[in-house]
Amino acid sequence: MKVVIVGGVAGGASCAARLRRLDESAEIVLVERGPYMSYANCGLPYHIGEVIEKESALLVASAELFRAQFNIDARVLTEVVDVDPTARTLQLRDIETGEVTNESYDALVLSPGAKTVRPPIPGIDLPGVFEVRTVPDARTIKEWIARGTTFLTGMDSYSGWQTVRPKKHAVVVGGGFIGLETAENLAHVGFDVTVVEMADQVLLPLDPEFGRAAADRLEQNGVHVVLGDGVASFAQAGDEQESLVVTTRSGAQYPADVVILSLGVRPDTTLATAAGLELGERGGIRVDDQMRTSDPDIYAVGDVIEVKDVQTGEPTLMALAGPANRQGRIAAEVICGRDSRFRGVQGTAVIGLFGATLAWTGQNEKSLLRRGDTDYEKVYLFPNSHAGYYPGAKPTVMKVLFRTSDGLLLGAQAAGEDGVDKRIGHLAMAIQFGATVYDLEESELCYAPPFGSAKDPVNFAGMVAADVLRGDMPLVHWFTNPDALVLDVRSDPELAVEGVDGAVHIPLGQLRARLDELPRNQEIHVLCRSAQRAYYATRILVQNGFDAKVISGGMLSHAMLAPR
Ligand SMILES: Cc1cc2nc3c(=O)[nH]c(=O)nc-3n(C[C@H](O)[C@H](O)[C@H](O)COP(=O)(O)OP(=O)(O)OC[C@H]3O[C@@H](n4cnc5c(N)ncnc54)[C@H](O)[C@@H]3O)c2cc1C
Repeated sequence: MKVVIVGGVAGGASCAARLRRLDESAEIVLVERGPYMSYANCGLPYHIGEVIEKESALLVASAELFRAQFNIDARVLTEVVDVDPTARTLQLRDIETGEVTNESYDALVLSPGAKTVRPPIPGIDLPGVFEVRTVPDARTIKEWIARGTTFLTGMDSYSGWQTVRPKKHAVVVGGGFIGLETAENLAHVGFDVTVVEMADQVLLPLDPEFGRAAADRLEQNGVHVVLGDGVASFAQAGDEQESLVVTTRSGAQYPADVVILSLGVRPDTTLATAAGLELGERGGIRVDDQMRTSDPDIYAVGDVIEVKDVQTGEPTLMALAGPANRQGRIAAEVICGRDSRFRGVQGTAVIGLFGATLAWTGQNEKSLLRRGDTDYEKVYLFPNSHAGYYPGAKPTVMKVLFRTSDGLLLGAQAAGEDGVDKRIGHLAMAIQFGATVYDLEESELCYAPPFGSAKDPVNFAGMVAADVLRGDMPLVHWFTNPDALVLDVRSDPELAVEGVDGAVHIPLGQLRARLDELPRNQEIHVLCRSAQRAYYATRILVQNGFDAKVISGGMLSHAMLAPR
């Protein structure tokens, strides 16, 4: 059996290595257009920011290693330029010599990845405008930055031999995770960075309040965030050969010595189109759950395919390394005759921003609302990352979405400085196995004071959500019923810091004695700092015949949700 794999990075390299482990006799050809096989593109922003100092650290496995260790015919700087599915042949072009050769296959695996979106914005091809996709991209950016060296910084007004003005300003166009990681890394190497995002929030897979938290984190660390304004043009700034000015649709202008384009990616379907493969409605190659395309001898994996959203059943695009690696492995297994199947995606992702972590999995509230799905409830929680009495505990903000009808876990988002990825990892696993919030209540998770709490934030989320569903905790959200009476049960000193206009104040400790001050014919919304005391108060009120509800997340969610 001869298998040719196009694309030698996440999906392609995984597929090739798995194939060899399963079939020692297969002839495997791994073809990569770029100069490197199996490089860590996820590490590129950190290499630009000098966190990963050596470029060689990004090169996970070389073509030589594929040849020596796996007996794989690995060819770099070789591009597949055409496919003839009837003859089961490919045309390969040597990038250096231009020589074109033919290669036959019994099975073909396409893992060509995605292309960066490059809209026809005037000036987009000017020197100084870069994208971050490959090792050579990162090298070019670093070389460009190095033209204004640290040594020369501050000497641009010096009239002696100095001729190079140091690069100071960076504009990142697009507030997705690659854009924001690159923004942070450019800030680390001394740039004054502006992120320009056309949407009204960064990190679109998050709900707006979490997008706002991410933007706040950037701003607190000196990165300027411009929302709701797209780039209209890039132009050279006066006589300065290496300086640009970025003009947005609103007419605002930002100086830029380096511009990073991060406007998202699109499946690279060039070869699929040449082969006449069926594409899906989202523009990716249509595959079944065994990674087979519309041609039974051609498989496709990674950023180039459309996958099933496990929760909605809808086709979606998911440009993430985890799914690409798993799909590569599954394609290899299926080619070797195994009955492996890809379950689909739920969009689990994480980003670090200046020491904070934001992570998410499953459905967000925006997508539920967009689909007109009203069978859901949400809770906001602010647990500590580990036992509060053990040093170093950090607050975490979590939003958990679940079905009102049966408690099925739908999605979660979290932000904080410790343990965020762990909690979202647990919840992602729970979603994949169809868990309910009642399952979260009962999950047995690791606990010792430095690592968590006896009631881990994941258990806590389940307990709060289950309390809501069982009717123990009637819940309400901010800004939903202006006619309700707001009851603040915090202590006096807390009110001195911040209060809510028009709220009635009765500290929790006095509530039982002052019930006659509250109306029996009006809905009462109870708040405290995080909703814990509000819950206790609501239990008292409900059992005394009042129509009381807890405001989810209390003043902490107010800070996230209140209009600014
Ligand atoms: C800067 C950056 C940071 C990222 N960070 C993360 C992260 O933190 N977490 C995460 O989950 N994901 C991350 N991703 C996304 C992740 O890297 C991709 O989802 C994953 O690499 C997709 O794998 P793939 O095999 O489909 O494509 P790729 O890994 O992109 O590989 C495709 C390869 O195919 C080659 N190719 C294309 N056409 C041809 C052809 N005709 N002939 C020969 N070769 C061809 C290309 O040169 C390319 O090297 C990041 C991506 C980038 C660019």
